[in-house]
Amino acid sequence: MTDRYAVFGHPIAHSKSPQIHAAFARQTGQDMSYEAILAPLDGFAGSVADFIAAGGRGANVTVPFKEEAFRLADRLSARARRAGAVNTLTFDGDILGDNTDGAGLVADLTRNLHFPLVGKRILLIGAGGAARGVVEPLLEQQPAGLVIANRTVSRAQELAGLFGRDVSACGFDGIEPPFDVVINATAASLAGELPPLPPEIFTATTLAYDMMYGRDTPFLGFARTYGACTADGLGMLVEQAAEAFCGWRGVRPDTAPVIASLRAT
Ligand code: NDP
Repeated sequence: MTDRYAVFGHPIAHSKSPQIHAAFARQTGQDMSYEAILAPLDGFAGSVADFIAAGGRGANVTVPFKEEAFRLADRLSARARRAGAVNTLTFDGDILGDNTDGAGLVADLTRNLHFPLVGKRILLIGAGGAARGVVEPLLEQQPAGLVIANRTVSRAQELAGLFGRDVSACGFDGIEPPFDVVINATAASLAGELPPLPPEIFTATTLAYDMMYGRDTPFLGFARTYGACTADGLGMLVEQAAEAFCGWRGVRPDTAPVIASLRAT
């Protein structure tokens, strides 16, 4: 019988996850289906329960349900526990919650973009669900330093506080440049907005990375104006999907052709 998987979100029509997982399944010869499910804002747990009852084997979770998925899981991977957010569920008698966003970001930076993070100064902008998921995997790469800057400074401080002296926090007016990598993990790009960042954070060797994908963003335009190299979050999206797929199916898909075909459409 074909194994069923899905992505839950609200909204969900824009999601590229069904396309990505269908490509992975074709490439690796897996007998599985993957659909997008619009869960009601107050009905995430019920939608997941219905899917499990209908034979669902696993699911991805996107905005705005990652923290609810964290609470729903019976068991958590270490990285999901640390992140406080879950983007991947596996249904196998109970519900296992994992977070593959950070692994996806690190894979995109280091493998696809050939940008090693060891010894680098990293600025992470934002302290929401996406930022929470990437702090620990970034630290595992042994950067020279990691600074979290957020509009609401207390949220940056709270997140940095989970990681001790390795991470510092500030508001946008307290950033002390420059940085080798600047990662935009805010939702500002979704609204076509630019966080008020000092241009000195960028140099000609800085990589400016926006987790948003699918269109050019004010953040990437701003970074280019000040000489930085830029990348969007499409590679991260495909890499976090590959990490989830590998956990479910035990086989790691080749991400390069999938990223290339998404870029071409
Ligand atoms: P959340 O809603 O959890 O967090 C939002 C964050 O953005 C907060 O830090 C918030 O600051 C900040 N923010 C929102 N609007 C503005 C603004 N106008 N100016 C400055 N800061 C702002 O969202 P997520 O963390 O889940 O998602 C963030 C982004 O990352 C989204 O664009 C999402 O699409 C993308 N993403 C991409 C992935 C990929 O695979 N490529 C994976 C996961 C996420 P405050 O605390 O002050 O409210």
